[in-house]
Amino acid sequence: MRTQTFARLYMEEFGETVLFDEPMSRRTTFRAGGTVAAFIKPRTVEELSWLLENAREESVPVLVMGRGSNLLFTDGKHDLAVVCLTDLNRITRQGSSLTALAGCSLGSLAAYAAGEGLAGLEFASGIPGTVGGAVYMNAGAYGGEIKDVAVSVTVLREGGIAVLPAAECGFGYRRSVFQDTGDVVLSASVALSPGEKGEIRARMAELNQRRNEKQPIDKPSAGSTFKRPQGDYAARLIEAAGLKGLTVGGAQVSVKHAGFVINTGDATASDILALMDEVQKRVFDFSGILLEPEVKIIR
Ligand SMILES: Cc1cc2nc3c(=O)[nH]c(=O)nc-3n(C[C@H](O)[C@H](O)[C@H](O)COP(=O)(O)OP(=O)(O)OC[C@H]3O[C@@H](n4cnc5c(N)ncnc54)[C@H](O)[C@@H]3O)c2cc1C
Repeated sequence: MRTQTFARLYMEEFGETVLFDEPMSRRTTFRAGGTVAAFIKPRTVEELSWLLENAREESVPVLVMGRGSNLLFTDGKHDLAVVCLTDLNRITRQGSSLTALAGCSLGSLAAYAAGEGLAGLEFASGIPGTVGGAVYMNAGAYGGEIKDVAVSVTVLREGGIAVLPAAECGFGYRRSVFQDTGDVVLSASVALSPGEKGEIRARMAELNQRRNEKQPIDKPSAGSTFKRPQGDYAARLIEAAGLKGLTVGGAQVSVKHAGFVINTGDATASDILALMDEVQKRVFDFSGILLEPEVKIIR
């Protein structure tokens, strides 16, 4: 079945709106990239299950996303139904654990935890993604990672629901098993510890200030463009290779933080990819290390 026909069926079934030929420059933090055939924001878990099940039966290509803060769609048209989960964002508390639906932003979850006097998510408060994207990426900052707090992850898998204990999530540096299985993260439970609200909020503010000082967060980007190579830092290598400020079209290696490729205003995805290639080549020539992209590229 054609992707847009499928999206129309969803609209009829649930009376929801779908955006057709939606530019992903509007939906990703890089503010670049081509269009997708259909952009869908389910409002309930039932709608999400319907979408995944019917897309599978009709062989319609689907990509599930959160806030698009680690995604780059190449320029041109993508025959894809993009399912964005940001409307699925409920948080519940059980003792000192919280369970959040996949579309909940990490910032909201960290703020909620602080309001409940629960410590452990301060590291995540400035990461601009969702719980689903953070589990998929095992996002981390300032010495903390999702794997340190995750207890279990609930996924939608081939029409059913499975609950995986954290030990079965294959967490590693910016890795989870979900990058291989294609499971859709529906929710995650995190174990936190009782703390003093003021102290938790002060720690979050301190980390966010450090982030503001070091990172070009006022410019469109996808955060760290490359993963940290073993025993080194991508930003250190890029800077040492003399690549700060290197520009292709509207894409630039940030002068503030060499680990970030930024969109200076009118970058195309091709500019960003060409710059990433050039950085990889020059860092390799300089150090013999091949940087691996952290940003997920949808071709
Ligand atoms: C300014 C800035 C700073 C950043 N700082 C950090 C940082 O400190 N640490 C860090 O780790 N990252 C950082 N990032 C990167 C990014 O925020 C994280 O990778 C985040 O976890 C991505 O979440 P998202 O909801 O935006 O995912 P998206 O970008 O929407 O998706 C990323 C990947 O996850 C998949 N995915 C998303 N949701 C689901 C789901 N429910 N089920 C299955 N797969 C899913 C998508 O298909 C895609 O492959 C930063 C980004 C920016 C722009």
